[in-house]
Amino acid sequence: MGYTPEERGFVQSLLGAGHRVTAPRQRLLAAVAGLGDQFTAEDLAAAAPGVGRATVFRTLRLMLDLDIVCQVVLDDGTLHYRLTSGGHHHHISCSDCGAVIDFATCDIDDLLGELSRRTGYAIEAHRLEVYGRCAACRGSAGERTRPAAAHA
Ligand SMILES: [Zn+2]
Ligand SMILES: [Zn+2]
Ligand SMILES: [Zn+2]
Repeated sequence: MGYTPEERGFVQSLLGAGHRVTAPRQRLLAAVAGLGDQFTAEDLAAAAPGVGRATVFRTLRLMLDLDIVCQVVLDDGTLHYRLTSGGHHHHISCSDCGAVIDFATCDIDDLLGELSRRTGYAIEAHRLEVYGRCAACRGSAGERTRPAAAHA
C-alpha cells in the first residue's frame, strides 16, 4: 500500500515507538494527512467514517505522545490539533480568525524555578497560549472602523 511522505512519517513514528499500524489507525493517518495542518477531533471523526470515536480519541492521544500533533486551545475555547514538527513550542492564536503561529521562545526558566521553590512542586510541564489579532485581521478591522470613526 502506498503512503504519501507525510503518512510515511506518521507510520514510522508509530512503528518506531513499537505500535502496530492497524487498519483504523491507517485510516486516521490518511484522514489527518487530508485535513491539513489544523483540525478538531470532530473534523477527524468526520473524515474517517466508520472509525469509532473512542478510537479517534485514543489515536489522537497516541499522536500527541509521539509528537506527531500538538493541541492548541483557541480563544473561543475550542481544542484544535495541529501537525507539529516536534519540540517544545507554544502558539499565538488570532481571536478573530483562528490563525495560529508557533513560537519556540519561552524564557520562563526563572519563573518556573521560583515557582518550584515557593510551592515545593517539581515542575514537569507548562502550557502557554497567547491570544491576539493577526496582522490580516487588524488590517481589515482598521479599514472597517475608520469610516465609522469619521462619522462619529
Ligand atoms: Zn503546536
Ligand atoms: Zn486573524
Ligand atoms: Zn514553553
